[in-house]
Amino acid sequence: MVTDSPHALLAQVTHSLHAYAQELQAGGVEGFPPAPASSTTPVDEGSPGPVADSRVESVEHQPRQAADAPAPPAAFPASPPDTLAPPAPAEEASLAAVHTLTELRAEIGDCRRCRLCEKRNTIVFGVGNPDAEIMFIGEGPGYEEDKQGEPFVGRAGQLLTQIITKGMQMQRSDVYIANVVKCRPPENRNPEPDEIAACEPFLVKQLEIIQPKIIVALGKFAAQTLLKDTTPITRLRGKWQSYHGIKLMPTLHPAYLLRNPKDKRLVWEDIKAVLREIGRL
Ligand code: SF4
Repeated sequence: MVTDSPHALLAQVTHSLHAYAQELQAGGVEGFPPAPASSTTPVDEGSPGPVADSRVESVEHQPRQAADAPAPPAAFPASPPDTLAPPAPAEEASLAAVHTLTELRAEIGDCRRCRLCEKRNTIVFGVGNPDAEIMFIGEGPGYEEDKQGEPFVGRAGQLLTQIITKGMQMQRSDVYIANVVKCRPPENRNPEPDEIAACEPFLVKQLEIIQPKIIVALGKFAAQTLLKDTTPITRLRGKWQSYHGIKLMPTLHPAYLLRNPKDKRLVWEDIKAVLREIGRL
């Protein structure tokens, strides 16, 4: 008898599935392959592009997302706020013996601690004054940075240089510039949590060595990753935060400003707060 009862339908489906599974088992099938891992959504402004030589970002540094759309939790390390995924004990011991940037660069060597090593051309360690008061931190190297081995050297980097020289009346060599990860993520995708966890101890060591008074986090990804906070950059920017005891000012990424020059005034407000903090304004 045919019935529309939900329970009867469920029983029929269960019976059919059971019979199907038995057929497969009889044919030697012992299980199903796992579902393929979800691939990273391709960046819609990858290289080469209008700003192919730098990390390209929208106001949230993720053009594929609406400006205030919350970032997926997987984009951030699982560690709780104000903590970092600890390096492995052997790694921790060798980093503890590092006291200078030169030693740190030697310690990183031809690093293969995460999969970003596979497609990179160059490890982009960082550049600038080892005694800098201000340290700019971006997300990761872009196309041009990967080629040249220096952070922020593409079009976005040139704008950052203008902010430093014309706005702050300083030289690039007065500050220190680095990234959260030191190898370019393929197609300018966002670094994965395990890649950040592998590389972040190097950034923390750079901070320990340089001891800047101020960190300026450039863009959504750098700010949210360092702060372990998914608050949109539009709300984070301009407000003092703390990273490992160092004052941190989140601001918009220069690549975003290239496409939204009217928002340069917001960055200038953030930079003025930084200059006031170090007594230069
Ligand atoms: S991103 Fe960092 S941890 Fe990964 S390979 Fe490059 S230097 Fe090593």
